[in-house]
Amino acid sequence: MEFICIMCPVGCHLTVSKTKDGIVVSGNACPRGELFGKSEATNPTRMVTSIMPYKNGTISVKTSNPIPKNKIKNVLREIKSAPVPKTAKMGQIVIRDVAKTGENVIVTGIN
Ligand code: SF4
Repeated sequence: MEFICIMCPVGCHLTVSKTKDGIVVSGNACPRGELFGKSEATNPTRMVTSIMPYKNGTISVKTSNPIPKNKIKNVLREIKSAPVPKTAKMGQIVIRDVAKTGENVIVTGIN
């Protein structure tokens, strides 16, 4: 498998192989690339960012931690259908255990 590391702007081209000794990553210029390559090959995750309506504007939100890529659509669907928060403060949880991922959706900005 081949990936581009997204852990920094360098964007190393990674090659990830599954061998009898485990997962081997090459092409990385630092240890973070090895961790990223292994994660991408076994359980790829991403932070999800979005916006929600709030009063006469919007709030920016994100998941509290990266979530599995195959849950991103469910997370976005739940954010879209969630009730408009009555209050919003930076870091406030607006959705708990979003899409049963165990992660929350928190406020990152009031627009
Ligand atoms: S392997 Fe290291 S240097 Fe290369 S893109 Fe990833 S974080 Fe950056």
